[in-house]
Amino acid sequence: MNYSDTIEQSSEYLRMALDHMGRHRIPVDPENYSVWYEYVSGRNEPLKLVIDDVLSKTRSVTPELNKSLYEKYVATDYKQIIKKIRIELRKVLDTILNHVVDTGGELTRFSTMINIYSQRLKDDLDAEAIQKVVEDILVETDAINRSGLLLKERIVASTREIESLRTELEKVKMEATTDALTGLRNRRYLETNFGREAEHALKTGSDLSLIMCDLDHFKRINDRYGHLIGDRVLRTSARMLIDCVKGRDIVIRYGGEEFVIVLPETPLKGAIRLAEHICTYFKTMNWKRKDTEESIGHVHVSLGVSQYRHGESLKSLIARADKALYLAKVSGRCRVTSEEDVFKLDPMS
Ligand code: GH3
Ligand code: MG
Ligand code: MG
Repeated sequence: MNYSDTIEQSSEYLRMALDHMGRHRIPVDPENYSVWYEYVSGRNEPLKLVIDDVLSKTRSVTPELNKSLYEKYVATDYKQIIKKIRIELRKVLDTILNHVVDTGGELTRFSTMINIYSQRLKDDLDAEAIQKVVEDILVETDAINRSGLLLKERIVASTREIESLRTELEKVKMEATTDALTGLRNRRYLETNFGREAEHALKTGSDLSLIMCDLDHFKRINDRYGHLIGDRVLRTSARMLIDCVKGRDIVIRYGGEEFVIVLPETPLKGAIRLAEHICTYFKTMNWKRKDTEESIGHVHVSLGVSQYRHGESLKSLIARADKALYLAKVSGRCRVTSEEDVFKLDPMS
């Protein structure tokens, strides 16, 4: 979410939001956080009414309820825009159809196709599905344009409209899958795009690995230097992780101070090597406040690594990385642990 409050205002809201989240034991991730930010800032009246009602009755908000509040009251912007685009697109198609009067062979096929797309857009499609329809229509209109048949001008105008809807769709998709603080891709992106990577691994028989990286004792940084410095540390950490990867690797802000790195075409051993490199990079970095040049010492990271097993879900791949990360934490932090290390300790895990 992009909020345009002043720094003073937003840091006050941030403090209040984290305070609520701590009280209700809500995991701090960007989505949960945006629920409480909107609640404390009073900008989302329906959400505030629901939370106040729940609190007056049960005094507690569970993480599950928090997620559903996000879907229902915060993520609606995204859903509304997608719906608007879908309706606009149907209008454009119906306009085209009204102008297809000729019954010649080529044009009949064209109008039938446009009709099918228009019908398809009646359903409550998600962004990916709408995008697919848009691409299909553009192929179809391109073919009719090249065939030199009637209707050319009408279609050129409609194509322009369809293209601008396509751009708008790209933009909302980008915003919904980008983390506002760090500019990295977010968890929603991972969840909607992981399938593609898994499919690629399956098709090409290549390896796919995942690193889960969590800042050590990050709470202390917030407590000692304040949340705004904490935010800066998160932004710089994101840049450092980007520095460490290449090619098709994807760095994701998975939650509060947790990052996931997806590594296509990489076996477990390669991923462990990269994780070791990241760990050392953080270990050797001496952090300074930009404003006062005061040193804030070191920020360490712990990393857990797992390798994709063909056919498994993202959830189970992440669960193994998470177990490895947990082992790194309990073994003293600032280290890398892989699913093999977890297996050696407990073959039943
Ligand atoms: P550990 O080494 O076990 O990971 O300890 P930790 O302190 O890093 O982990 P813990 O889960 O106890 O605390 C994470 C903290 O991260 C708590 C939360 O306030 C903070 N946090 C999460 N998201 C943000 C954010 O967007 N900005 C800031 N400034 N802090 C955040
Ligand atoms: Mg941590
Ligand atoms: Mg954490």
